[in-house]
Parts: sequence; C-alpha cells; structure tokens
Amino acid sequence: MNEIRACGHCGKRGVVPVVLDYEARRTINGETHQAVLPNLSVTRCSICGTIWLTEEDDTLICGAIMKKAGYLLPEEIKAIRTANDLCIPEMAKIVQMSEEVLVLIEKGYRYQTREQDDRFRLLSRNELPLEIA
Ligand SMILES: [Zn+2]
Repeated sequence: MNEIRACGHCGKRGVVPVVLDYEARRTINGETHQAVLPNLSVTRCSICGTIWLTEEDDTLICGAIMKKAGYLLPEEIKAIRTANDLCIPEMAKIVQMSEEVLVLIEKGYRYQTREQDDRFRLLSRNELPLEIA
C-alpha cells in the first residue's frame, strides 16, 4: 500500500486519488476560457479539498481548453510541420515567427496568437506559399 501523501495546503495526510468532473479555466492571450473534463483522475486532499494536478493533468486540461477556444494543439502544429516536410527554421519563416517562438509553441510552453494560429491553418491547407523569400 502506498502511504497517503501529505497535503501541501493543510499539511495533513489526506491526498488520495479521485475521479471527478474537473472544471478548468485558463487565460489564453488575455481571454479566459473554460472547459469541463469529465471523469478526470486526479489527487485531492480529503481533508481540505485541495486538488493536486500533475504535469500530465495540466497538459490534458490545457489541451481541452485550447480545443474549446478554437486553437490548434502543440502536437497538431508539429504534425502540420512534419506533413509539409519542414524543419523548424523553414516553418518559422513561412508562418512569420522566430524559431524560438515556434519551438516553445510546439512544446506547449507558449500559446500561439490567433493570427499565428490562422497561419498554421493556412499552411495545413496549403494556402500559404511554401517558397521561402
Ligand atoms: Zn489538505
């Protein structure tokens, strides 16, 4: 049996796995979006009620919110790049952003703006010129 973890909020040993409908809220580019993730497995303190999310939970939540808000997911952006057989510097030029920003977006460390999202979508539909000026 695993020992019940101590809660970082109340300090008592009460953090246990639970499955719940998680209502998430995130701000993307200044707009707050909401999504409900049904039957999400998380850990929660049975004493004070604090929900403890892992990095994986956070990735799931972020993905759900981005989808709901109408943004491409980091893995979808990477898929567009590989489908067009582009390396990071080539794709960055085509969608008009720095290589550094594109890397951060593909890793999910940064949200693309609406304009950037539109350019990824245009590229995925072959509506952006592939020639590099
Ligand atoms: Zn607690």
